[in-house]
Amino acid sequence: MKLKPDCLEKFQNGGERFLLDISELQDKGQKVAGIYCLFAPVEIVRAAGAIPVSLCGKKEKPIADAEKTLPANLCPLIKSSYGYAVTDTCPFFSASDILIGETTCDGKKKMYEFLGRIKPLHLMHLPYSVDQPGALRFWHEEILRLAKFIEESTGQRIDNDHLRFQIHINNKIRKLLSRISRFQAAEVIPISGLDMMSVMETKSFSVTPEDYISLLQEFIAQMEDIAARGFSPFEPEAPRILLTGSPVGKGCEKVLQLIEECGGAVVCMENCTGVKGLDLLVDERAKDPFLAIARRYLQIPCSCMSPNIGRMALLGNIISEFHIDAVVDLSWQCCHTYNIESRVVGDLVENGCNLPFLHIETDYGSSDLEQLRTRIEAFLEMTRWQPTGRGAKLNDPDLTRSLK
Ligand code: SF4
Ligand code: SF4
Repeated sequence: MKLKPDCLEKFQNGGERFLLDISELQDKGQKVAGIYCLFAPVEIVRAAGAIPVSLCGKKEKPIADAEKTLPANLCPLIKSSYGYAVTDTCPFFSASDILIGETTCDGKKKMYEFLGRIKPLHLMHLPYSVDQPGALRFWHEEILRLAKFIEESTGQRIDNDHLRFQIHINNKIRKLLSRISRFQAAEVIPISGLDMMSVMETKSFSVTPEDYISLLQEFIAQMEDIAARGFSPFEPEAPRILLTGSPVGKGCEKVLQLIEECGGAVVCMENCTGVKGLDLLVDERAKDPFLAIARRYLQIPCSCMSPNIGRMALLGNIISEFHIDAVVDLSWQCCHTYNIESRVVGDLVENGCNLPFLHIETDYGSSDLEQLRTRIEAFLEMTRWQPTGRGAKLNDPDLTRSLK
C-alpha cells in the first residue's frame, strides 16, 4: 500500500529543478525578481515577464555573517535572509536580477536598506491597517509604483490582458493549494504536517505556473487515492494541532517537527508557509486589475497590521473547520509583532474557543531543543486529558471585534 504520494518527492527536492528552469529562462532573457514576503504581488512580476522567487532565509548557517552588520537581537528570519545575500550562498539570490521588499516589520524594512546596496531593490510602503481611510488608495499607488519599477527593469510593459491572465493563474494556484491543505481537515489525516509543509513551501519558488498547476493536480489525485484508503501517519488519538505565528520552512521547522515527534498531528499551519492568504483571491472581473490586486494583498492578515482582525477571523475558521484540539503559537525571537500579538491569539483560543494554547518563542538554533521537547510533550499530554470541544466554535462571536 502506498503511504505517500509518489509525486511528494518532486516537491521535496524541487529546488534544483526550479534552479535549472530559472537558468533556462534567464538564457532566453527573462528577469528574476527576488521576493521576501506574501505582500509581494506576484501577478505584477509575472505580467512583466519576470519570475518571482522567494528568498526568505530559513536556515541558521548564514546568520553569523549577517551579525557582522546587523544587531544580534533581531529576528532570525531577517538575519538569515541578509546572511544569504551578503555571503552569496543562496542560488536563488544569486539568480535574482532585482529585489522587492515591503515595509512590513521594522527589522525587515531597515535590513532592506543594506540589501539595496547589493542588488537593485524596490521597497513598497505598506499601510498598517486595512480599514484606515486612504489605506487602499495609498497601497494602490504603491502597487502602481512597483509596476513601473518592474517595467523599467524588464523593459516589458504590463498590459491589462497579461495582468488579468496572471490574476487568473495565481488564483487557480491558490485554490489548488487551499484544496490540498484541506486534506488535513479530514477525520483520518492522510498526510503529516511536515510533508504538507514541503508541498506548501514550493508556492514561493515555483518557476513555471502551468507546470506547477499540473504538479498540484497530480498531487491532489494521488492524495485522494490515499485518503480513500483511510491511511494516516498518525495514531487515531493524536491531538489535532494548529500551528500559527511566524513563518517556518525547511531548515527552521524544529517546532513543527517536535510536535509531530511528540505525538501531535499538525493539521494546519496558519502562517505564511501555510494557509495564510490562500483563500484571498484577486477579483478577476474587476474593472481595474491593479486596484483589485491592491485590495486582495491589503487583506493579508500579517501581524504588522494593527489591529490584525483578519488573523483572528482566520484562526477562528481554521479551529472549526480542521477540528482543532489545541493551538501552538510560534514567535521567532525578537519578532515583536507576532510576539505581542500572541496575547491576543491566546485570548481567542483559551477564552473564545476553550482550547489549550501554547506560546513558544525561539530561534533557529538547536540549543533549546530538549527544553522545547519537554514543554511540547507536557502540552500534548495536557491536551489529551483536558476535555475540550474539538474544533470548538468561538464562544463569543464578538470576541474578535472586542479585541480591537
Ligand atoms: S509574516 Fe508578514 S512580514 Fe513575514 S512573510 Fe508573512 S506577510 Fe510577510
Ligand atoms: S518573523 Fe516577525 S520580525 Fe521576522 S521578518 Fe517576519 S514579521 Fe519581521
